[in-house]
Amino acid sequence: MQWKRYKAVFARKALTTQGWQKDVLINIDEGGLISAVEDSATSPPGAPSFDLVLPGMANVHSHAFQRAMTGLTEIASGEGRDNFWSWREVMYKFTFGLTPEAIEIIARALYIELLKHGYTAVGEFHYLHHDAQGKPYANVTELSDRIVTAARAAGIHLTHLPVMYETGNFGGKPTNDGQRRFLNTPDAYLKLLGELKKKYGDADDITLGVAPHSLRAVKPETLRAILEALEHCPMHMHIAEQEKEVADCLQWSRKRPMEWLLDNFNVDARWCLIHATHMTPEETATLAKTGATVGLCPTTEANLGDGIFQAEHFLTADGSFGIGTDSNVCTSPWEELKMMEYAQRLATRRRNVLCTESTPSAGRTLFARAAAGGAKALGINAGILAPETRADLVALSMEHPLLHSRKNDTILDTLIFGATAVVTDVFVAGRRVVENGAHAQEEESAEKLRQIIGRFV
Ligand code: ZN
Repeated sequence: MQWKRYKAVFARKALTTQGWQKDVLINIDEGGLISAVEDSATSPPGAPSFDLVLPGMANVHSHAFQRAMTGLTEIASGEGRDNFWSWREVMYKFTFGLTPEAIEIIARALYIELLKHGYTAVGEFHYLHHDAQGKPYANVTELSDRIVTAARAAGIHLTHLPVMYETGNFGGKPTNDGQRRFLNTPDAYLKLLGELKKKYGDADDITLGVAPHSLRAVKPETLRAILEALEHCPMHMHIAEQEKEVADCLQWSRKRPMEWLLDNFNVDARWCLIHATHMTPEETATLAKTGATVGLCPTTEANLGDGIFQAEHFLTADGSFGIGTDSNVCTSPWEELKMMEYAQRLATRRRNVLCTESTPSAGRTLFARAAAGGAKALGINAGILAPETRADLVALSMEHPLLHSRKNDTILDTLIFGATAVVTDVFVAGRRVVENGAHAQEEESAEKLRQIIGRFV
């Protein structure tokens, strides 16, 4: 779908790199980048005008198909032992029923929902590559193509992260049958990347990255080969999500997962480490200094019983983080940020934990850091309102009575902690993909999802 690209957007209030500004005119060039940000401006004819404009939020970690599992894994198995690993078995079985068409339908519906809540880019950590029997499709990029088609139809920027998966656990342990749709040899994976580069390497609405699944699913030599084959793209990897994973890594290498990675690889700003839940204070401080981003998925991490990330220490060490929807049980960035702070409060029995001396507002700290860190992790120049960055913009209504008296950072505190965020319009690279709270395809997309969702009960 072709959306009109706007030349300017006017905001009565906006959060720019200069701070909170009034009567802000955001000029947009033909390539979808912001060309100028002027405050105390007047609204030119034809420019849409909004109460409040914020930079769009990046969703650094999604497994789109898992959206269709929502609500199907919350029933106890009866043994009192439900955990991440039992959830994973259910998820593996779920993948067997997914056709390429269903994957596209679920992803499109999800991406529309993400946009409507204020996400403007998504990092799709894409590990379904083969058919239900584990046989490669004749077109090796079949399922990647479905994800790209879904993202383009929705109008969200996609950072596509095809996953390398080859082993069942640390030390090259064999995989199990549930993982059959994920598996590739290093050669087959590099071929897949080559095909994707040919198809989408020049596209301005797609960023290509790589995703070695985890240290338990990829051999060290494969990790090195992937890094060497692709020097500049985003590199995402799950790490230290579960205590069992840490114990298994210790048994294999006598090192914890993050310790092993930091000792063996040059982790830098191109890396996005997903979860990083179980780290020592030393690992946390060292990781913060590398410039890598941590991809936190607070709602999914709570849903799966992962544990709580050492966010306070990481923030104190000036670490970079983004937020992700992961299993997609929550599609709202506002809820995700609230969960992130609340987990810290519950763990520390204090309040306003994720703040800094220069930014005492929890809402402002969470929003600004996640927007900037998330964009960096997705390899896009976004997450702030400034010239030469992407015009990924989210407009919100200030009509809620509570917002009437709120000023500057307390607006974000109210939006996040009061759950009153009403996103009215969303622009992706200057294109208005959500208008007055609606997405042009949401009805049709929802109807298609209704037609297939019955297969998954
Ligand atoms: Zn994940």
